[in-house]
Amino acid sequence: MTVKSIQNVEFLAEYEVGIPLLLRSVTSVVVAVIDDQGFVLDANDGFDYIASNIKNFPRKKSEQNVRDLFLNPTFNQLLTTKPDNNKAIIYKGIINLGVGSGIASSIKGAILRDFNKLVVFGSYDISELEQLNIAVTQLNEELAVIQRDLMKANRKLQQKEKEITKLMLTDPLSGIANRRHFDTVFSQEYERNKRYFKAEKSFCLVSADIDHFKLVNDTWGHDVGDIIIRCFAQTMQQHKRSSDFVARVGGEEFMIILPETSLDNGYLVINRIREVFKSMVYEGVDKQITASFGVAQFSEDDTPEQLIKKTDIALYQAKDTGRDKVVCYVSKSEQEN
Ligand code: GH3
Ligand code: MG
Ligand code: MG
Repeated sequence: MTVKSIQNVEFLAEYEVGIPLLLRSVTSVVVAVIDDQGFVLDANDGFDYIASNIKNFPRKKSEQNVRDLFLNPTFNQLLTTKPDNNKAIIYKGIINLGVGSGIASSIKGAILRDFNKLVVFGSYDISELEQLNIAVTQLNEELAVIQRDLMKANRKLQQKEKEITKLMLTDPLSGIANRRHFDTVFSQEYERNKRYFKAEKSFCLVSADIDHFKLVNDTWGHDVGDIIIRCFAQTMQQHKRSSDFVARVGGEEFMIILPETSLDNGYLVINRIREVFKSMVYEGVDKQITASFGVAQFSEDDTPEQLIKKTDIALYQAKDTGRDKVVCYVSKSEQEN
């Protein structure tokens, strides 16, 4: 018997004595010889493999009965198919084996009647497996493309999220932090200082406001006013220390946070900014533009509102006493000392 004839079920008509040696240890091909009662007389490794997958199926050959394993065709159907002669193929096609409604194995092949014996021959339909394999490979490739696209989209989304967050925290006119950003940074700095309060490491808060700005707008126009606002923002941004934080919180009003800064040092940093801003010249503007600043240092009992109020009081004093100056808030008790 050749391998070629194994693939052709017609070989069963030539079946005579027993399972050919060549087929005994092949697991992709199932061969079993069964008597009229359903008992297995002989079977190859392919059959054993199926049997091993069936729950509670006896391992011992002499105890193996496959009557109930034939789901389609059923064993009874096989017995009632009577060939004209005593040796003929009685079934060709898919053979479903299993227990109850659970199919353990589907093989493609034929069943031969040989007088009072049945010979089952079948093989797994590899072409279907191959097609399945091709389909799985294609799906995998599609999945890889989708995953790549998804990763790209995810990166874009993260980028957009960053851009949106930045836009939400930035003042469009000056390009520096806006009030929303200030509120977050201020509350963080406040909480940190409140929790680990040390007078010598406390932070300073500054209110800044351009002087006579209404007049600037009225005299040189709103566009020039915008240029001056941008210039004031840039000056503070460039001359602050790296740990300081500047935000535009209103029209021409700004707040500055100076972490771990004494009132004296706060004064020096801000006064330097005041001088630089004052020295700026603007096209068509024949007058010096100045700003006033109110500085206050956080003390342990301050609420956020009280600290802001202190900077406002200092700023008001600067405005009230001639503008173009930096005033540091000093509490009444400190004034008396
Ligand atoms: P003071 O020295 O007391 O601060 O006087 P001031 O004229 O600057 O008074 P105030 O600070 O109240 O004036 C704010 C002016 O700022 C009013 C408004 O017209 C102007 N302003 C607010 N936002 C903008 C803006 O985005 N661009 C321009 N060009 N002007 C603005
Ligand atoms: Mg002003
Ligand atoms: Mg103002």
